[in-house]
Amino acid sequence: MVVKFLGLSNNFQSRPIEEVKKLEFQNPAYSAAFRFGGDPRNYSKVFTIQVSGCDFDCNYCYVPKQINVANPELGKYFSAKEIIGYFLSAKEKSKEPMNVIRISGGNPTIIPEVIVDVYNEIKNQGLDVYLWIDSNLSTQKYLENLEGNLKNILNQKNVGVVGCFKGICKEDFSMLTGAESKYYQRQFETAKWFLEHRTDFYVYLPALVYKGNIEEKLTMFIERLRGLNKNLPLRVEVLEIIDYPGAKLNFERAEKLGRPIPKTDQRMVFDIWYNKLLPKFYSQEYLNKYCCEISLY
Ligand code: SF4
Repeated sequence: MVVKFLGLSNNFQSRPIEEVKKLEFQNPAYSAAFRFGGDPRNYSKVFTIQVSGCDFDCNYCYVPKQINVANPELGKYFSAKEIIGYFLSAKEKSKEPMNVIRISGGNPTIIPEVIVDVYNEIKNQGLDVYLWIDSNLSTQKYLENLEGNLKNILNQKNVGVVGCFKGICKEDFSMLTGAESKYYQRQFETAKWFLEHRTDFYVYLPALVYKGNIEEKLTMFIERLRGLNKNLPLRVEVLEIIDYPGAKLNFERAEKLGRPIPKTDQRMVFDIWYNKLLPKFYSQEYLNKYCCEISLY
């Protein structure tokens, strides 16, 4: 098998950061196509709902702080019916196929009612839609409150969840998010909760690591993920962090708060993860697979 699209680009060390990976994102297009048995191009145009509000304050966040809060002057409440109505109207106008709804934010998993309501509306209207859900994994508390409703949603064929881990050790976590380091552990507990509910679960890892023992810290992180599920590291997408305008505002704000983004070249993190660590733990056969082809259960 000749793998053309996975891994890092040739000469990635000298390329701009946005060109380091051969494939910018595998998700959700590949996961939707894999689950539905179709072509990823039918799932690459995504209708995104961005919930306002987050319980972290990441120094690299792409969403300006002023709009990542539940401020009725800058946002609006939409019912699930309205959301699906807007999706259907955008889909009708779209030249490309549009078959994915993404619930992002902010952190949708602190208001999981939105997941239940949107999923039920999709189901009630009999839509052939893939639902992609983002989580910052800060807590499973609110998910647990709706467990009865969520348990038959998270394991559905047309549902995928991505949990974004912030930092690969508790010190980095605290610098990146502004949360106390004791909450680093919660991310693993929340990921475990999703896995226990047989969710089609994926992981993002921003390529932000503070200097010192980078390989050792990444090794510990990969081992912790393996502790949750031995194949989980193969479902990780390391994310390049780019200085988009919204992110720049947060870089500057966080720097003033004593939480600058790390100076480590992100390419070094990509290199260690994809070229050194994954091959240490997994055979080439596994490394040749897309994240969605890696089975967890
Ligand atoms: S968890 Fe996500 S939305 Fe929340 S502050 Fe961090 S990057 Fe922004």
